[in-house]
Amino acid sequence: MLKVALIGWRGMVGSVLMDRMRAENDFALIEPVFFTTSNIGGAAPSEAQGAPLRDAKDLSALKAMDVVLTCQGGDYTTEVYGALRASGWNGYWIDAAKTLRMKDDAVIILDPVNRKVIDQALVKGVRNYIGGNCTVSCMLMGLAGLFEADLVEWMTCMTYQAASGGGAQHMRELLTQYGALHAEVKALLDDPHSAILEIDRKILARQHAFTPEETQNFVVPLGGNLIPWIDKDMADMGNPGMSLEEWKGMAETNKILGRGPGFGTPATPVDSLCIRVGAMRCHSQGLTIKLKKDVPLADIESLIGNHNPWAKVIPNEKERTIRELSPAAVTGTMNIPVGRLRKLAMGPEYLSAFTVGDQLLWGAAEPLRRMLRIVLEK
Ligand code: NAP
Repeated sequence: MLKVALIGWRGMVGSVLMDRMRAENDFALIEPVFFTTSNIGGAAPSEAQGAPLRDAKDLSALKAMDVVLTCQGGDYTTEVYGALRASGWNGYWIDAAKTLRMKDDAVIILDPVNRKVIDQALVKGVRNYIGGNCTVSCMLMGLAGLFEADLVEWMTCMTYQAASGGGAQHMRELLTQYGALHAEVKALLDDPHSAILEIDRKILARQHAFTPEETQNFVVPLGGNLIPWIDKDMADMGNPGMSLEEWKGMAETNKILGRGPGFGTPATPVDSLCIRVGAMRCHSQGLTIKLKKDVPLADIESLIGNHNPWAKVIPNEKERTIRELSPAAVTGTMNIPVGRLRKLAMGPEYLSAFTVGDQLLWGAAEPLRRMLRIVLEK
């Protein structure tokens, strides 16, 4: 059995990964070894069968592993990956962090969409398999049928990204802000005769009065608000006014699909406006797609819905849409619903779509455990 190092297993992505690995019985196929950066010698999950947690920065312990599967984060990857490879380790590095994603010797993994790219890389001896940006992965799981049929000339994505994309502390901050806002106007809400503009004024005043502690993670209020910028400005990479999250939309989509620089084919233009909203978990996206030709809507629906078992077409009707195409409907499920499909006023090649995906499942944990399975099948 392959020895697999599990690192970052108690974080947010790691916990979802553990749940999925248990549900799919992955542990029966590997010899898991659990590591930590904060609790060396502490108790590991039951799958360790009593073995204590090992030091995630101990290169000699890592060198004994066939596979390192990490959700520990980018700082850890930066600190350990290079040194481990320099020590001569030639195992498989499977990682949720962005650090290695765009490196030439790494593949971005999303096997229902790019199994061919993964298989070719395995044959070539590539050893680094990195989970993609959550928004990109969820979008591609929904729309892969259109890309596979080579119908997409270009696409824009307006994203509505949940607090969980920032990590556990961000989710807590959002809820704390909602709580503070509710407390501010509770008495007025309880009185059916109170004036709504008075409630509105008090909410705005409270948002403006949030302390630095109350906005430690998002910097500005997210409860009752939105933030139209995610991650750093790309000015230092020659793209001032574009956020890193927006840059990833095109770069990662093309790399996952095996297009653009390095693949000898032109990249498909994908541009985004990425927005943080007060959803807890699940990223949503409103898409405008320029098709290469006019394709009947029914054909588009079957291409999307038949591509993989998780992409689900939601008919473009109000009741189905409001009940099935939202973060609250999708959270905790593997489904990637795609709805609001209709041709736009600009012409029959212009298509609108809206999709939602749980970014901790397809956007983070699931591609990692599936890559582990692919390595095991080899
Ligand atoms: P996280 O929840 O902050 O966990 C990372 C590590 O923090 C844990 O493995 C744990 O390491 C340590 N930690 C410290 N205090 C903790 C506590 N109270 N509870 C749990 N863990 C604690 O990070 P994450 O959101 O899972 O993200 C991990 C990586 O996945 C990042 O590179 C991220 O960019 C990437 N990613 C995240 C998402 C997302 O939606 N959040 C999506 C795709 C990719 P020790 O056990 O060693 O202390």
